[in-house]
Amino acid sequence: MLGLYLHIPFCAAICNYCNFNRGLLDAALKVRYVDALVREIEAAAEPATRADTIYFGGGTPSLLSGSEVARIIDACRAAFDILDDREITLEANPDTITVDLLESYRAAGVNRLSYGVQSFRDEELQRLGRLHSAETAHQALAAARSAGFGNVSMDLMMWLPEQRIDQWLASVDALIAARPEHASLYLLELYPNAPLKEDMARAGWSLAPDDDAAAMYLESLARLDGAGYEQYEISNVARPGCQARHNVKYWKDGEWLGFGCGAHSTRGGVRWRNVTATIDYIQRVAAGTTVVAERRVMGADERVEEALFTGLRLSAGLDLAAITATYGLDVWRRHGAELSRFVDAGLVIHEPGSRLALTRSGMLLANEVMAVFIGPTVR
Ligand code: SF4
Repeated sequence: MLGLYLHIPFCAAICNYCNFNRGLLDAALKVRYVDALVREIEAAAEPATRADTIYFGGGTPSLLSGSEVARIIDACRAAFDILDDREITLEANPDTITVDLLESYRAAGVNRLSYGVQSFRDEELQRLGRLHSAETAHQALAAARSAGFGNVSMDLMMWLPEQRIDQWLASVDALIAARPEHASLYLLELYPNAPLKEDMARAGWSLAPDDDAAAMYLESLARLDGAGYEQYEISNVARPGCQARHNVKYWKDGEWLGFGCGAHSTRGGVRWRNVTATIDYIQRVAAGTTVVAERRVMGADERVEEALFTGLRLSAGLDLAAITATYGLDVWRRHGAELSRFVDAGLVIHEPGSRLALTRSGMLLANEVMAVFIGPTVR
């Protein structure tokens, strides 16, 4: 079952930590971009191929009008066999939201919203260059509820400049009180030339010690457990039955097609990505030339490594029998000697022949555990 990813590269302002493929909103360019996106989807049509998730990511997809979203979803419906029981997610920034806009998204078929909240503390939001406030985030959730959305996710970012453990937990408590169905908790990652680095140097802002970041992660998940959320991936929790079906495809060795500038696709052991620049993308679609910048047939070792890396991110971990059946790899026989020390340290759970999973403490050291799987030949 395919997932469809649609990239919307426009933002109302550029956040000082952001390394995504995005640019400032240009209304005329957005019109041309939506035309190109629809044409790319039409050109990829496979009406007999089933898809059960559509995901508008960005950028800021909530800068699209209801009619633009409807046009794009209709193009997906015409091009693929979209299941009745589908998940259609749209990422939204709280500052862009009105009830009318959300109602138009619902009418277009969107049934899940993912809000980039990042923090419920205004001083932290200002340090990140975000346009919304904690109050706006609350209003955006209320607007979602009045527009009829019963499936809403909120993102929070931890280990922000000057953030202490109790301040992070105040945002977590605010999220719990708001009661979204799903939440994602990300660690702030500062890429080399992030303007936030300069802001931090200028203002003398610092990051809490690594041990505090670990405490932030563990205590926030404990609070979310207590509030009835279930962790199902390193950075994701959900109320029962509300896992992000689209994102689970990325972790469960699934297949998806990405449309729009910079979008990635994975299907049948082939991985490709579209050209990154918005104008380049639009011009290529208009000229009828390929928008694919790079296409790679994944080798057998790369495919199995990928399945191990992504599957281990899930709380359920790896289904060892399924890995053997699909890739012919006995994970424990190949890597057991190295993995044993992580099992002994309480970082990994091994149920012989059936399951290999990170414990919550192990999730803090996921990269160290996953490094075991890196090698020229994994079988
Ligand atoms: S709104 Fe999101 S995509 Fe846009 S600049 Fe900020 S973090 Fe990046």
